[in-house]
Amino acid sequence: MQTISSSAQAIELENQYGAHNYHPLPVVLARGEGVYLWDVEGKRYFDFLSAYSAVNQGHCHPRIKNALIEQAGLLTLTSRAFHNDILGPFEKYISEYFGFDKMLPMNTGAEGVETALKLARKWGYEKKGVDTNRAKIVVAENNFHGRTTTIISFSNDENARKNFGPYTAGFVKIPYDDVYALKTVLEDPDVVAFLVEPIQGEAGVYVPSENYLKEAKAACEAKNVLFIADEIQTGIARTGRLLAVDHEEVRPDILILGKAVSGGFYPVSLVLADDHIMNVIKPGQHGSTFGGNPLGAKVAMAALEVVRDERLAENAAKLGEVFRLRMQKLVEKYDVVRLVRGKGLLNAVVINDTEDSSTAWDICVALKENGLLAKPTHGNIIRFAPPLVMTEEQLHECCDIIEQTISAFSN
Ligand SMILES: *Cc1c(COP(=O)(O)O)cnc(C)c1O
Repeated sequence: MQTISSSAQAIELENQYGAHNYHPLPVVLARGEGVYLWDVEGKRYFDFLSAYSAVNQGHCHPRIKNALIEQAGLLTLTSRAFHNDILGPFEKYISEYFGFDKMLPMNTGAEGVETALKLARKWGYEKKGVDTNRAKIVVAENNFHGRTTTIISFSNDENARKNFGPYTAGFVKIPYDDVYALKTVLEDPDVVAFLVEPIQGEAGVYVPSENYLKEAKAACEAKNVLFIADEIQTGIARTGRLLAVDHEEVRPDILILGKAVSGGFYPVSLVLADDHIMNVIKPGQHGSTFGGNPLGAKVAMAALEVVRDERLAENAAKLGEVFRLRMQKLVEKYDVVRLVRGKGLLNAVVINDTEDSSTAWDICVALKENGLLAKPTHGNIIRFAPPLVMTEEQLHECCDIIEQTISAFSN
């Protein structure tokens, strides 16, 4: 392998040999520890993206690292053709941790979403009594649930969809945060499930009105429709509770988790449900070679222990308040910042410019120069989501960097 000696060289290699399916900020990272990242030139940054909330536990957490190393020397993969001595304890641990009868392990978030969709359809035919191939699943506008052909079929991001058709049928889109629209589509007896993000992360950290989730869940229950929560980004303490639905004491029928389930060490996604739903899946009807492997299982259990032992939800709740207070001061002081919104440490700052302007991108490049890494989502919105192991002192230091950077964009 060619050794990298400069950021420019690494970017050039990616440009030449890698598919151009991302547009990263021009920084090349070589090391991470806790809330910090270092580039190949040795410059240190605060991470304010946390790999889209996959490293809530901070980079290279020693407890998760040790679990990975230990299991890597014992057994890594058996496939599900045979049993192994970690899977059963892992399934028990996860089911009890999140309070469901059963779980089904996959690898990536998109696979978790696909699993939930298959589960809901099968439940619809076999338990609800919907006629063959008639099942409909309701989704919200501006959703982000992943990148597979079925999932992009119900996205309304034209860039993510265009020229990837024909699209998968059987999805109905309604506005987000609109219980009335939901109740209207639920009149259709072929609807089997409502798939929703408790906060729309990719769309720009849209927090729905209070009680939206509670009312949506009740509306689904009244019509025997499954409420599916995609907590891949909002879950695992990010919003100040273990799950974002916990803020409204909502228990989904199907819960999808990914990202921080494994603290950034290894792809692990999980689908949780009670027996009357999960038991519709029989041998041969769903699976994945790597799903539930001992290495990923040990990593995930260590990652969830860290969340509990280090009280990351409590820290996210506390620091989230501090962050939004500091950002609110910028809203009042600088025209370029229009508003701040979010929950816990999942927040966004909306830049006072058009969606197709480069201001948010330019601010992120300047933040990088000043030692803080964040990335725009959807043009004029910057998402701020640091690892949850951050201290209050570090957070204030970061807010100082953001303020100093923003002030340079104001006149
Ligand atoms: C990241 C994300 C996904 C997709 O997860 P991948 O691991 O990238 O496939 C799905 N839903 C939400 C809400 C996400 O944030």
